[in-house]
Amino acid sequence: MSIRVRLILWHSSVFAISLIGFALVIWLGTRTAVDSDIDTWLYLQADGLARFIKEETHGTDEAAVIEEAREFSSGLPKGSGIQLFHRDGQLLLSRPEAAVGLVSEEPSTFLSDESRLRALSGRVAVGENEFRFTLWRSLDSTEAALGDLRLVLILMVPAFLLISVAGGWLLSRRALRPIDDVTEAARRISLQDLSSSLPVPKHRDELHRLCEAWNEMLHRLDDSAKQLHQFTADASHELRSPVTLIRTTAELTLRKERSPAQYQEALRGIQKDAEKLTELVQNLMELARADAGQSKFSLVRLDLREVVSEVRPKAESIASQNNLVLAVYLPERELTVIGDRGALRRLLLVLLENAVKFTPPPGKVHLRAAAISSEVVLEIEDTGIGIPPEHLARIFDRFYQVDDSRTGTGVGLGLSIAQWIVQGHNGRIEVQSTAGIGSIFRVFFPAA
Ligand code: ADP
Repeated sequence: MSIRVRLILWHSSVFAISLIGFALVIWLGTRTAVDSDIDTWLYLQADGLARFIKEETHGTDEAAVIEEAREFSSGLPKGSGIQLFHRDGQLLLSRPEAAVGLVSEEPSTFLSDESRLRALSGRVAVGENEFRFTLWRSLDSTEAALGDLRLVLILMVPAFLLISVAGGWLLSRRALRPIDDVTEAARRISLQDLSSSLPVPKHRDELHRLCEAWNEMLHRLDDSAKQLHQFTADASHELRSPVTLIRTTAELTLRKERSPAQYQEALRGIQKDAEKLTELVQNLMELARADAGQSKFSLVRLDLREVVSEVRPKAESIASQNNLVLAVYLPERELTVIGDRGALRRLLLVLLENAVKFTPPPGKVHLRAAAISSEVVLEIEDTGIGIPPEHLARIFDRFYQVDDSRTGTGVGLGLSIAQWIVQGHNGRIEVQSTAGIGSIFRVFFPAA
């Protein structure tokens, strides 16, 4: 069932209940008011009649009393009347003629000659004599008026309901039309076309906010899709070069008979490219798993000094192969962090290998670790080629390399992986670098 139909049904049901309630209140209210009006009139007239007979009749003559009652009756409005009785119930006067008789002294309703009457009886003492009377009033005209009111009320409910349903239908059509437009526009947006956006309605209402939120989401999706596209393009580009190198080396070497030394050299080249390829594939898989949220860190309490000691031998050997000095400074006391031992080793190696890779001999690489207030800081400083300021903001991007010619090995994924590891440990990584002087990478972890 569409929102429009549900809206109209709800709105009409509530309106119908209110209308019926309103009609009932009007009907009952009017009825009660009319009844009490007639009763008040009867009481007043009875009082008036008793006083009139008492004041105007001189002596106790029955004929005089009848005459006064007759005079009083001539002032009564149409549809009402009076009957005068002797105290023993004998009818003395009936004006106009009506079959009423003596009734209760409280107003009561009864049927007389097919018309409903409201009447009350009373007494009046004239000297020694006592007379009784009945005052009545026909309910025909009021009942006819009430009948008309009832008819109007009964007709009013469906008429107003019809107007309200029609109004609700038009209103909901107007209110919901922008939703149809947005739905149509959303249907037209495909994965290739995420840069287009939904039309935002002019009025700053709920729909305006919804469309804006959708457009923001579309832009985020567009960014992600572009990143993914870029990542795939970069990854295939990077994969192609070592594969091409391996193939060309093999093809060239196999073209003619070679000496064992030439074969060895060619195979070493192939081995180097295959290693680069393996590393690249590993890094790519790691980042893909990280993106898919599949690789989780197994975080434990550990001493960061131990992790440094674990990678130190490998880092020292790479440094010495490149004729560099690696100096490590660790504090006496524990540097406790909550971390994944393997991931932290990886992080340290990425930063240390970069420092070595981008520092020409004879240079120095310093590794310092310390606890500063509520953080544990790791600092890797080198005296290398540095990074020009315009590249600093982008070096953590995937596949970003400052200059292909100076990197040699590596494809620009190391710092992306480093950043992912740091973020997974609720830390942050910062870089400070001066071209030609050197770089400092600092990693901050919350102390455990
Ligand atoms: P890779 O080292 O594989 O090229 P990274 O993501 O580790 O990729 O680094 C990205 C780029 O940042 C490097 O290509 C290099 O240009 C620059 N870079 C990183 N570390 C240093 C450093 N210690 N000194 C100078 N440049 C660096």
